[in-house]
Amino acid sequence: MKTETELTKQKIIRLLSLTDKEEQQSLFKRAYALKVDLLGRKVNLRGLIEFSNQCRKNCLYCGIRNENSNVRRYAMTDEEILGVVAFARSKELTGVVLQSGERTDEEFVKRISVLISKIKKATDDSFRITLSVGEQTAETYQRWFNAGAQRYLLRIETSDEKLYRSIHPNDGLHSFETRMKCLESIQQAGFQTGTGVMIGLPGQTMENLADDLLFIQRKGIDMVGMGPYLEHAQTPLNNWKESRMPLLERFELSLRMIAVLRMLMPTINIASTTALQSIIPTGREFGLRAGANVLMPNLTPVKYRKSYLLYENKPSLELEADETLENLLQSIHKIEEQVVYHDNGDSRYFLNRQINH
Ligand code: SAH
Ligand code: SF4
Repeated sequence: MKTETELTKQKIIRLLSLTDKEEQQSLFKRAYALKVDLLGRKVNLRGLIEFSNQCRKNCLYCGIRNENSNVRRYAMTDEEILGVVAFARSKELTGVVLQSGERTDEEFVKRISVLISKIKKATDDSFRITLSVGEQTAETYQRWFNAGAQRYLLRIETSDEKLYRSIHPNDGLHSFETRMKCLESIQQAGFQTGTGVMIGLPGQTMENLADDLLFIQRKGIDMVGMGPYLEHAQTPLNNWKESRMPLLERFELSLRMIAVLRMLMPTINIASTTALQSIIPTGREFGLRAGANVLMPNLTPVKYRKSYLLYENKPSLELEADETLENLLQSIHKIEEQVVYHDNGDSRYFLNRQINH
């Protein structure tokens, strides 16, 4: 099948702006066919562990921002995390994503290095570890890569500097330039690099989103997680009610973003995110049918889930990991996709990049 890795910006804007149901369906079908052709009817799973909500930042959209004093702060112990890893392994998952708020102190940096070693040891080196713990120094990224983590997720949130500034406080901790530099350091450290954006942000245009997709392509990103922006009452961005895109529009636009990205970068890993599921219970399945190939079942222990609300209406707050996973497997089966068990799910794009170097 012919790929369309050279879509023009105008064409991308046109595809992202589709509202006609049939045209939209045909876009999803094309992207899905491309995914099936190149990657199979296959879904890769990674267990998500939201291991701490301690955060030094104050992103204007995020429910666990430092200044939100309603949040009960927690940090899981290594033993608790290793317990979840053991569970993930018993279910034949091949990797986990360790996600938390942002901390950069030496105690945290060291703790993550030790944790990576412990996970590697406990899983006989067979497990893929993805980190999603925010902005760090180039040295720290390198340290964690050397300790054995293979992937890193840091969303650019938006590639438009002006829009980025409008959704972050104007202080030294939230600079667009630093964000960009971090993404580059992550790539240079050797990680499979993931990024992504929020979709339907106040003030965001179709042109911004087209630029985001081209940014992802230009930077040679290996994996992408992107989804709708969702409100949280205890955040400053929630007060910008005037420029809000209706939820269902945000949902469909997110699916179109996934589909167009699949056409632009046919072999990367694209996650169908929990934020989609927050709008429609089967939202992630729609994401898969629009071209995504990765799901991240939430394995965070139930007692911590209510304290990790980046946005409201986060699904499955009461479901233990076992049930979360069971539901997910059933819904994957329903859309006639298969979970990949004996493959660590490395981004095909990343592997090709390695070969060509
Ligand atoms: N602290 C780390 C990881 C946790 S936040 C970091 O910031 O990278 C992970 C992602 O959650 C963010 O990158 C952001 O894209 C997303 N997020 C935060 N608040 C959100 C909201 N209100 N709606 C949708 N996504 C949100
Ligand atoms: Fe902290 Fe990440 Fe939320 Fe920003 S998005 S406030 S860095 S957890």
